[in-house]
Amino acid sequence: MRLRKPISRLSMRIVLSVFLLFVVALALTIGYTTSQTRAHAASSTSNNQAANQASSTPDASTDSLQAASSLPAGCTNDGKVDYPGAIDCVITPPTTYDCNNDQSPGNCNYTSSDRPTSCSVWVAPNQPLAVTKPCKLNQIVIHDTEGSLASTLSAFMCLGANPNNSSCQQVSAHYVIDLDGKVYQVVRDQDISYHDGNFWSNMHSIGIEHVGYDATGYQWYNSAQYLSSARLVAYLLKKYHLPLDRSHILAHSTVAASTLSTSPNHVDPGPYWLWDYYFHLISQQGAPLNSVALPHTITLHPRNNQALHGPKGPYGQVGTSADYNFFKLYTGPSTASGLIPAQDTSDPTDVSYNVEPGISYHYVNKVQDPAGTGDTMYQIWYGEEDQVHNDTPSYLAAAKLVWLAVPPGDGVDGTQRPEPDIFHTASLVKMKGENIQIYSRPTTDSRYVIGGSTDGATFFSGYTLIEDDTSSNLWYEINYNHRQAWVPASEVVGA
Ligand SMILES: [Zn+2]
Repeated sequence: MRLRKPISRLSMRIVLSVFLLFVVALALTIGYTTSQTRAHAASSTSNNQAANQASSTPDASTDSLQAASSLPAGCTNDGKVDYPGAIDCVITPPTTYDCNNDQSPGNCNYTSSDRPTSCSVWVAPNQPLAVTKPCKLNQIVIHDTEGSLASTLSAFMCLGANPNNSSCQQVSAHYVIDLDGKVYQVVRDQDISYHDGNFWSNMHSIGIEHVGYDATGYQWYNSAQYLSSARLVAYLLKKYHLPLDRSHILAHSTVAASTLSTSPNHVDPGPYWLWDYYFHLISQQGAPLNSVALPHTITLHPRNNQALHGPKGPYGQVGTSADYNFFKLYTGPSTASGLIPAQDTSDPTDVSYNVEPGISYHYVNKVQDPAGTGDTMYQIWYGEEDQVHNDTPSYLAAAKLVWLAVPPGDGVDGTQRPEPDIFHTASLVKMKGENIQIYSRPTTDSRYVIGGSTDGATFFSGYTLIEDDTSSNLWYEINYNHRQAWVPASEVVGA
């Protein structure tokens, strides 16, 4: 759940209060006309809770985080869950937690729906729900909790203790996986949980939390937890007919914030999550790996992350800081040229100047690093947040050519187009036009612009979809920067 830049509880409450006042005022003056403006399941919700839960990151060596030894309060082993074997912590009753219930408090924390058949979202008191039909599940989003199982579940079940408690946060996830691999279900698959701060993404995804801390993830994420998560994800991929790739199984850190100006981005599960090892485990459960290597693309597979590496032991003995696996970006064709603008290079979870494993980027040029590191430098188009040190930053990311350093053996250079198959939906897209905008959601709405691109910039697209509630508005998901963003078909041509 963790944010890149923690914000104080007080300031987030002020932001939330102002936001709610704004929404209420808006409702009173013009009424609600879209499913994306709501006092309940607001698009800002889970960012706010995540900010609070991100207020501290204890060092693992001094923290006493342990797997739960008994069933947490509010959880039972009754089997009334979507995933066989999960412990039932599904939050109920709807009058307390469900934002589609007029009686629920304003800080309710999930939206009941009938996914993938439809999503139904509260609009205003005594008004019909806004229905999106179908409401396909496109993504599985991977998180970490930044706290223990008990603290995470108590945050998700906060209203149960006191429905009038205004400090309960609008946060939830479908599943939580403890350090010992036990799976706890909190929200039904068919319902919308508030796990990633981007309401479109929440509508179309399943959120899975892993107990641990991202900044010291190598001390937490362990073999029992990875294997248990892999089994759950393999089950979900089969159930919802999704491919095993990084376009459909996302890090929270690659889900774009709704708008960069109002919502800080999230950084979990962080640079120590072993993506290739994890995907290897998922594929062992019978979900075929969808590996795509289009011409002139570089796909990142660090050796310290690959299938046979994995954490060696149980919790407490799982890895070292050498497991850091983000790839850095430079201003020129040399590692001596300096990094692109970075927010805080002393923070291992900083995502302003790097990219994650498993992600593919189109490259324009490549050279051997003249600084003698042995790295290959790939020139890629990247949405750079070049205002990170400005007192009044624009927050928009501008597509620029930057240089990605890839050590020997850590990347796959695509040379030929793979044979098409049922899951082969990837392509390269070239931006066209005078005023190209990059969106955090595939929705025709100027509120969700997170950056811009120049004519001719080329990006790797993992898949396409038709905009909700339309029959023909085609959108491309693209690997834009550390985030996976969206562009409409009207702005691109095939590359
Ligand atoms: Zn998260």
